[in-house]
Amino acid sequence: MPTVGGAVTRPKDPRRLKAKTGRGRGPGAVLAPPGVGRGAWGAGAGPRAEGPRAGARGRPGAGRARPSPPPPSSSSDLGRPRAVGSPAPSFLFKMASPVAAQARKLLRDLALRPPLLAARSQAVQLTPRRWLNLQEYQSKKLMSDNGVKVQRFFVADSANEALEAAKRLNAKEIVLKAQILAGGRGKGVFSSGLKGGVHLTKDPQVVGQLAKQMIGYNLATKQTPKEGVKVNKVMVAEALDISRETYLAILMDRSCNGPVLVGSPQGGVDIEEVAASNPELIFKEEIDIIEGIKDSQAQRMAENLGFLGPLKNQAADQIKKLYNLFLKIDATQVEVNPFGETPGGQVVCFDAKINFDDNAEFRQKDIFAMDDKSENEPIENEAAKYDLKYIGLDGNIACFVNGAGLAMATCDIIFLNGGKPANFLDLGGGVKEAQVYQAFKLLTADPKVEAILVNIFGGIVNCAIIANGITKACRELELKVPLVVRLEGTNVHEAQNILSNSGLPITSAVDLEDAAKKSVASVAKK
Ligand code: GDP
Ligand code: MN
Repeated sequence: MPTVGGAVTRPKDPRRLKAKTGRGRGPGAVLAPPGVGRGAWGAGAGPRAEGPRAGARGRPGAGRARPSPPPPSSSSDLGRPRAVGSPAPSFLFKMASPVAAQARKLLRDLALRPPLLAARSQAVQLTPRRWLNLQEYQSKKLMSDNGVKVQRFFVADSANEALEAAKRLNAKEIVLKAQILAGGRGKGVFSSGLKGGVHLTKDPQVVGQLAKQMIGYNLATKQTPKEGVKVNKVMVAEALDISRETYLAILMDRSCNGPVLVGSPQGGVDIEEVAASNPELIFKEEIDIIEGIKDSQAQRMAENLGFLGPLKNQAADQIKKLYNLFLKIDATQVEVNPFGETPGGQVVCFDAKINFDDNAEFRQKDIFAMDDKSENEPIENEAAKYDLKYIGLDGNIACFVNGAGLAMATCDIIFLNGGKPANFLDLGGGVKEAQVYQAFKLLTADPKVEAILVNIFGGIVNCAIIANGITKACRELELKVPLVVRLEGTNVHEAQNILSNSGLPITSAVDLEDAAKKSVASVAKK
């Protein structure tokens, strides 16, 4: 089948529209104001955010921040193995926010240290899946419920259902889209051999045949791990012709102290490349969150995106509706690429990626109930049940830590001392003894783990609780691997007494370096 625009596969379509490489959700993958702005790099709350901030929950460095990998060589090949849900337009990574700069530096540093590469790539693969991720069809439902124009669609989880949906749509042309949390689907390849995660056809039967080669197979895109991500659902939508693809995102930007509209008349294509080669084609409108979006701002953005005549008002109206939705649902980012124009004069959101402020969970229960965890590692889901953050790596020393910085520092120091972390598990703040037990259970269930390094800084955390949790876990789980513990901070003396009086073979370490040396030695000895 010929490929139209390199992104979407469409059989013999004479109406060849603009050549596009549409990688809409892709750009979403990297910058992640939600990510960069959070946990790992210590940025505080977004303007609307309430309640305890990320820090208190102690996401791992990767935490919500997911250090997306730095561009290895070209910006278009960001190697985002799993862009899932980390929808920050990557080009924004180039924006001048101090947090972004800090994040970039961190990523560069990580990239420069060969021993960390393995861990980094692993972490990158695993980290993007730790907060609310909605599939495109879920985001589009939210959009259409709020007056934003999207195509009519159905969702199917079998080929037969897809066929039925295609018939029911009764559309001139149908677009079939694999639902995975990564972008770049248009150019993806399925493990069934089928090329393209986005297909256009006029024949419902073809929808059935294509869906058969999608559902149950892995789809690999630029943003997924090499083996791809399993497709469980497809979207069957009414296809519309696109005469122009623009890019539109609304996000919380720390450097603007609030929401910002970001747009480019050249959407669909790799927005990063546009940002790099034609930065003048990226437009921004900072919005005062108290005053809300002004008509003039929406109009100016519509104009900058190249919408002319009556389309300008329509686009401005859509932009305002998207902004209102963004606020209403506590999003940290709404990204639409392509934000397109049809030959019939309609402004339509052809793709959608929304990120949420997870501190708003308490007031966005319906949305958070839609969380699609199907792409998570089972162990991550298990960890999440106990409010623990688990990141799998490929070494043999399990790291049990609290907080993002400490997690990274622990991994680093293990490497520096010649060892390799098997994972890290972030306990966060507000720890309960039972959590410590569960954490040990998870860590020891991994056959790769040959030693455990506990590195806890008791700021909010009370070290004695940790110590009690550790001794309990050691006894009940009959721990078989060496355990090195470094505790510091609140109530540390009592904690040390608990450990030393426990009669358990626990190696105490005086500081981080000592802990790393001892844990590496305990593995080497074996
Ligand atoms: P992505 O590759 O994961 O970003 O998925 P998109 O939903 O953005 O689809 C990729 C590309 O397919 C877009 O950039 C469009 O060029 C094209 N596409 C998607 N939906 C339609 C449609 O309804 N009609 C046409 N003509 N093209 C579409
Ligand atoms: Mn897209």
